[in-house]
Order: sequence, then structure tokens, then C-alpha cells
Amino acid sequence: MTPESVQVGLLGGESLTQRRAIAKAITLLESTRADHRAQGDVLLTALLPHTGKSLRLGISGVPGVGKSTFIEALGLYLIDQGHRVAVLTIDPSSSVSGGSILGDKTRMEKLSMHEKAFIRPSPSSGTLGGVAEKTREAMLVCEAAGYDIVIVETVGVGQSETAVQGMTDMFVLMQLPNAGDDLQAIKKGVMELADLVVINKADIDADAATRAQAMITSSLRLLGMHGNPNDPHSDKHWQPKVMSLSALHGTGVDAFWAAVSEFKTLQTANGFFNTRRQNQSLAWMWERIDAGLKHAFKHNPAVREALPRLTAAVQAGELAASTAARNLLSALEFIAPAA
Ligand code: GDP
Repeated sequence: MTPESVQVGLLGGESLTQRRAIAKAITLLESTRADHRAQGDVLLTALLPHTGKSLRLGISGVPGVGKSTFIEALGLYLIDQGHRVAVLTIDPSSSVSGGSILGDKTRMEKLSMHEKAFIRPSPSSGTLGGVAEKTREAMLVCEAAGYDIVIVETVGVGQSETAVQGMTDMFVLMQLPNAGDDLQAIKKGVMELADLVVINKADIDADAATRAQAMITSSLRLLGMHGNPNDPHSDKHWQPKVMSLSALHGTGVDAFWAAVSEFKTLQTANGFFNTRRQNQSLAWMWERIDAGLKHAFKHNPAVREALPRLTAAVQAGELAASTAARNLLSALEFIAPAA
């Protein structure tokens, strides 16, 4: 398949052709070969006018909290309402250990078989930044193919929540009703990323769920997350909601969707929906520039040659760290050497 035929299949194909085209496009974008990367960039530019029309929903939570059970229930509910749903996953463990927390194939069995759903597991290698980039691009491909709800799921470990919050319109944190779970999330700084906190498994102990809901609601108030006007997440109009539900029994899914819709309507009306996306695109660009510069730096022959000598000089106290850094950076031609 050429990038052109992928594009044609993606935008207008029959359901099966389109599925294949989506898979091909994502595989192309995940490839590390330079020629594939160039073709991928052409494809992305061609697809871009057809992207952006979906609602991008981030969902995070510790293993076992019920993410896949919930996403399956939500996905089927949304399909029932006439939507098409794509589910993408960021599994931070794959970039650390090569293993996978989320990788088993039995997850979301019904949804994965539905013709109106597309489920793609996490890219299996690379740094978190690299994996996040592939997921962002896969999201654009799904949008171009007409999926109007894109769910990006991640496990509640590592930095992946920040990455997912940085690529979605709304970030949902799933919690268990037991005490302590919310403290962990607060300590890790994840709670303050949430636009919506869902306490799952309310069917097991409704009282515990109610208590957790009250505790998290007051924690969110205490966090005072609306102080910084330069923070794209900061928004004076939306007070994050806390709700409890049962993914297993499918109770509360409609209330959940009502809250998401309310958020979207409000954010669109006050302009934050677009601002957040614009900020995310720019942040993404700069993050990739940083990563590209670092890569170019580390692979620069002059840097590689000078690095051992300058490292030793810094260690021996013969050269200031900042002078060594400036000398190394000057190997990249557009950066002036230290005086
Ligand atoms: P994930 O690791 O976050 O994707 O969690 P799963 O969706 O795989 O759920 C982990 C376990 O919790 C499974 O055995 C589910 O059946 C169960 N589970 C998920 N949601 C609920 C719920 O609302 N109530 C109860 N009782 N069990 C649930």
C-alpha cells in the first residue's frame, strides 16, 4: 500500500478496507525507518484537515480498577447512541521493561469485535515521549477515519497520566472506593490533572463509595487547581466532578456521559476547548523539538568525540560544568561556542 492508497482507504473506504487502512497508517507512523517517517509526515499533513472533530477522552487508573470493564461498557453505550469509538492505549511499562500491563488480548472482548469500534494496543517500544507521539498520531488517523470519540487509556504508574492529559480534551481518573487510593493519587500529583474522578465498583460497598466521593470532592477543593491562568488545564468555570458507578453492572454510565457532555458544552462556550487543544499542539511540537535536539546532539560525531574528555575534566574539577556544556553544544552549528 502506498501512502496515497492508505489515505483513500482511510477517508472513504468500506468498513473492512478502512480498518486495514487505519492499521497500515498506524504501522507506517510507528515505523522508525527514515523513509517511512517521511511518508508518514506526508500522510499526516494530508489527513490533518480531516482531524480534530472527535472528543478526546483520557482515562487512567491503577491496574484492576476496572478501566477495560468501564471502557467496554462506555464504548458499547456510545455506539448505541450512534457514535464510533476508537480506544488507544499508552502502556508505560512497555517502554521501561518491554513487558505490558495492559497487553492481554481478552480485554474489551465485545467492543473489540464491534465494527464501529477500533482498539489499538500500546506501541510496544520507545521512550514514553516516543510512545505518546505515536499515540497522538494514531489519534489523528482515527479521527480522519471518522471515529468521533477517541479514548486514550493509561495505567496509573509513571508519567503516563501527564502524557495522556496532555493529549485529551478531558481527563478522567478512575479510583477504587477504599481509603488511601485517593491519597496516593494526590501524592503523585495525578488528582489535580483530573477533570472528572470516577469511583468504580460502587456495587461492592455503596457506603464506602459515598465516603470516598465526599473525601475526594473535598481533596479537590483543597488542591485549589484553578489558580494559574497560564495553565491550559486551569479553568475557572469547571469544578472537577466526582461520581461513583459500577462498570461491571453498567450503572452510572449514562450519568458519566452526561457529565462529559456538560464539560464539553461549557468548555466550548468559554473557549477553553480550543485553547487547550492549541496549547497541547504547541507543547507537543516543543517536546518533539527537545527530543530531536537531544537525539541530534548525542549522535553528533564531534560531540561523541569530545564527550569523554570533557566529562573527565568536569569530574576532575578542571572545567566548570556549564563551560563544558557550552563547548559540547557548540558542536551543533547553530549554537555559539562558549567564549
Ligand atoms: P483494569 O486493569 O483497570 O482494566 O481492570 P479490569 O477492567 O480488568 O477489572 C479488574 C477486575 O475488576 C475484573 O475482574 C472486573 O470484572 C472487576 N470489575 C471491574 N469493574 C467492576 C465493578 O464495577 N464492580 C465489580 N464488583 N467488579 C468490577
